[in-house]
Amino acid sequence: MAQIIDGNRIARSIRSQIRRQAKQLGLTPGLAVVQIGSDPSSTIYVNHKEKDCHRVNFYSEVHRLPADINQNDVLDLIAGLNQSDKIDGIITQMPTPEHIDGQTVINAIKPGKDVDALGTISQGNLLIGRHQIAPCTPTGIIRLIDEIGVKVEGKRAVCLGRSTLVGKPIGLLLMERQATITYCHSRTVDLTAETSQADILVVAAGRPQMITAEMIKPGAVVIDVGINRVGTELVGDVDFEAVSAVAGAITPVPGGVGPMTRAILLENTLKLAVENRSPAS
Ligand code: NAD
Repeated sequence: MAQIIDGNRIARSIRSQIRRQAKQLGLTPGLAVVQIGSDPSSTIYVNHKEKDCHRVNFYSEVHRLPADINQNDVLDLIAGLNQSDKIDGIITQMPTPEHIDGQTVINAIKPGKDVDALGTISQGNLLIGRHQIAPCTPTGIIRLIDEIGVKVEGKRAVCLGRSTLVGKPIGLLLMERQATITYCHSRTVDLTAETSQADILVVAAGRPQMITAEMIKPGAVVIDVGINRVGTELVGDVDFEAVSAVAGAITPVPGGVGPMTRAILLENTLKLAVENRSPAS
């Protein structure tokens, strides 16, 4: 049976560390969350972010904007947050309504406050290996892998998914750790041929339980990023029961990657606060 990687436990320990560090530094880092519209899942995620800030004594602002807001008004809000002394990190909850270009909004966040590192400059810095922070979900995944003591160097890692949010950056971060990377996506011809070679498999497809036991190399580390609502349940992209019998380690859904994304958002906010408020900046 695979080791079950407890993201909740690791996230709790990251939060305690952050709380302690901020206190020692005498800092109250500030996070601003911008939500456009009232998509129910987005509302849950935004409420979590607000609650997480309170847990570590960060300052938090949540801007809940109507779905029909004009894009220029959103950009004006971001411009104000860029200037605010209380705010170190700004994040826009995705997806945005159709008439708003999400990437334009993200790019309006100044790079020094781009806490999910999804702006063009932050992504470019990640690509060339000059990043101070990286997107929260992939950073959280690396932390989970580190936490179970798996050495990434020389391993074969397969990333299923090529989104800007998860797939592409997790490949870059794993390659930075000296893994050999394969990206798979919706047009990959023989998925099983690829996934069954993986020492580390990261699945971010958004397809409930598409990864089955025969797609897994025995002993592999399987990281399930997917969050799918099936009826009233939340399930991942991996058939957890069957794959647990083959894999060496596996993340559950919920309780694996999700809590880590939230913890790293706080950690990135703290890092930006340290950077933004240092006397030299
Ligand atoms: P996305 O829709 O932008 O990308 C999905 C990717 O999967 C695409 O690159 C696509 O080519 C690939 N794909 C889709 N179907 C496939 C198939 N049948 N075979 C092979 N590849 C396939 O999604 P995303 O934003 O990267 O998110 C992926 C999943 O991760 C979603 O379920 C999302 O909710 C979840 N997610 C979770 C967290 C977290 O913190 N746990 C964070 C971000 C996203």
